[in-house]
Amino acid sequence: MSVLSIPRAVYDQIRSHGEQTYPHECCGVLLGQSAPEGWQVQSAVPAGNMRTDSAHNRYQIAPLELIKIERDGRRQGLGIAGFYHSHPDHPAQWSLTDLSEAHWLGCSYVITAVAKGNATVTNSFLLTGDTEEKKRFDNEAILVDGQSIDQDGIEPAQKQT
Ligand SMILES: [Zn+2]
Repeated sequence: MSVLSIPRAVYDQIRSHGEQTYPHECCGVLLGQSAPEGWQVQSAVPAGNMRTDSAHNRYQIAPLELIKIERDGRRQGLGIAGFYHSHPDHPAQWSLTDLSEAHWLGCSYVITAVAKGNATVTNSFLLTGDTEEKKRFDNEAILVDGQSIDQDGIEPAQKQT
């Protein structure tokens, strides 16, 4: 299984973005560097959700915005590690629409479930396969500041309270 490494501040940023845009989906781009075990995310860049027609269950990043993010990342020596979006009142599992609209083979797709406005589970899926026709999502682990998060996505610290 591949591993997505992400700093705590970036992980929190992704999750709170989903809370801010609730009940609509948020979306953004993850910049980072590739490592043998998976992407090492350095930063997350929030993007506007173009899907005003169905923003509660669809997301789309404007192509020009993505080009700009990619260019800015390259200046910092970072590549597109993947994308993130939220699932308002839905589980943090990819949908068939997510798969059909994912085109960056080898990139990580992070999904955060937001229940009643609160971020709950965050999962990551690696888009694998050699071609667009054979692409698929593989589950991957998330390491936050080097620590694995619980399968249910709830922080141990929060659980005790
Ligand atoms: Zn989705």
